Formats: sequence, C-alpha cells, structure tokens
Amino acid sequence: MRWYDSNARSLPWRVTDGSRTDPYRVWLSEIMLQQTTVAAVRPYFERFTARWSTVEALAAAEDAELMAAWAGLGYYARARNLLACARKVVAEHEGSFPCTEAELLKLPGIGRYTAAAIAAIAFSKRAVVVDGNVERVVGRLFAVEQTLPAAKAELYRLAEKITPTKRPGDFAQAMMDLGATICTPRAPRCGACPVSPQCQAFHLGRPEDFPRKAPRRAKPHRQGRVYWLEHEGEVLLVRRPAEGLLGGMLALPTGSWSEALAEDGVPAAAQWEDAGAISHVFTHFSLTLSLACAIPERRDAQGIWWPVDRIGEAGLPTVFAKAAERALQWQSGLFGR
Ligand code: SF4
Repeated sequence: MRWYDSNARSLPWRVTDGSRTDPYRVWLSEIMLQQTTVAAVRPYFERFTARWSTVEALAAAEDAELMAAWAGLGYYARARNLLACARKVVAEHEGSFPCTEAELLKLPGIGRYTAAAIAAIAFSKRAVVVDGNVERVVGRLFAVEQTLPAAKAELYRLAEKITPTKRPGDFAQAMMDLGATICTPRAPRCGACPVSPQCQAFHLGRPEDFPRKAPRRAKPHRQGRVYWLEHEGEVLLVRRPAEGLLGGMLALPTGSWSEALAEDGVPAAAQWEDAGAISHVFTHFSLTLSLACAIPERRDAQGIWWPVDRIGEAGLPTVFAKAAERALQWQSGLFGR
C-alpha cells in the first residue's frame, strides 16, 4: 500500500483528491476495461463521461447512439449490456448502484470480477478482485505450479488470503498497477518491486515462468465476402441482427463467414470488382474478408444509404471500418485512372 500511495497510475476514472469515488465512473471504466487495454479505453471513457455524465443520462441514450459511440472498442455485447445495466439501475435502484457483490451480480454485464471491483473500489467493501494482472502477480508471489485456466480457483484462493479489510479498493488497484507496471508479463522489474522479499518466483530466479499456462490451441480461420455498393455518393449499410457477433451495429453487407469462401450475401446485381482483402482477428477466430465494390447506375438494394464522405461517423466496428478504408482506396484508384 505504501508503494501504491506514491506510485498509483493517474487514470481518468480514479479519484486522487480525496473526494468520494463515483460508482458510475468505476462501473463504466470496469466494463470498458474488460478485454481492452487502459490506453484504448482512456479516450472512450473521457468521451462517454463528457457526453453522459451520470447513469441517468446514459440510461436515456438511444441504442444506436450508444453503439456508434462504442464503435472501435470491440466486444459489442458489452455496449448492449452497458445500456441494459444503466436502465436497470435507474428503473430498479433509483439511479444508485447497489453496493454489495451479490446485488451487483444481478445486473447485466457484471460478472464475478466486475462485481468485486465495483464493491471494493466504489464502496470500500472487502472483495477479492482478480483480473489478469492480479493472477500474474499472485501466481508469481506464490510460484503456483498448476497451469491456467485450471489454476484460476487456486489463484483466487491465494488472492483472498492476502486481501485486507482496510482500504480494499486501493489494495485491488495497487495489485493491478503492480501487474501493469512492474510485474509485467515479460521482463518483470523485480529490482523495483515492493514485494520481491516475499516473492517465491523471484527467489526461484525465474519469475517469467509463472503463472504457468496450458499451451494455446491455434485459432480457426474463416473467410467471407464484404460488399461496398455505392450510388450517388452514398454507400449501402445494414444493421446487423441484435443477437450474435457485432450485434446491433451498422455494417457493410457481408456473406457468411466460414472455412471455405462462400459467394453469398450479394446485396444487389451489379458489376462487382475485386478490391482486395482485409484481415481481422476476433477472440475465437481470425477472418479474411474479400472486398467486392460496385458503383451501379441504379439504386436497387434496400438498407441504410449513408453518405460516403461521412463514413467515419457511422460507428462501424473495426473490421468494417477496415473494409471501408480499403474501398475508399479502391475508389480513389478508380477515379484517379
Ligand atoms: Fe513480480 Fe518480480 Fe515482484 Fe515477484 S518480485 S511480484 S515476479 S515483479
């Protein structure tokens, strides 16, 4: 804790002036940080809190408006849950987040880790907060031999053992900061570490060997087609079904994504030109999308026709933003010929 008092990272969702921590900001930051880095989250957090400064304001946001603001941050189910959670807090808790882990767990998008983090950081409740950083620090402190993910229960048990009753929120953040800045996955700076005298992995002389991980299986690869259909300065977009990958987001029309390339999903009969391919990696698979572009004379397809010069404002998920960028390159080549 002494180390944290003088080394805490300055983060926009942290209170450093001694004033009360705002549960709304803690919750928002924790949801954004799930599966995402601090550097990626920072500008989104600042934009979100400038635009929706309270949970009531966020609950009143339009679905499409929020999804567009979330675009680029990935894992879009989080955005849908964010809105559902804000609305539930307003409707059922009069706009105040509940303060216990058990109550927090009943809210959409809040799992074991997030409930513990909010209870500890926003409400100073003793809660065992274990994210990837904490797993690494604990795995090294106790030189846990069992491999992840099976070791999760053991790492949780050990984290529970060292979680204090006093300042539990600061303790959780101290562990996260230690993992993020000193006890890093590669080349941990044990010489600067406040807990090296107690660290078993350090004493063994091989901190990087912990926590042990089961070998990863290679991600499957999928491929598909994506279409850029343009007419009089507008491009055809579609809203993806609410459920499933990138659900509820605006997107370019696309066919099925599978092991073998299928020629489906063509939004209209037109003279399609091959405009190359883009690649993207999702959590469970990698994807190559072949881009087909057409600028037909007639507007035959149904969907949302969006101004090409404002495509950056459509809030396209990254995979489609990449395809749009590629289509614009194709288009500039076409008109530059
Ligand atoms: Fe991590 Fe090294 Fe500190 Fe152990 S001594 S917790 S391995 S930085």
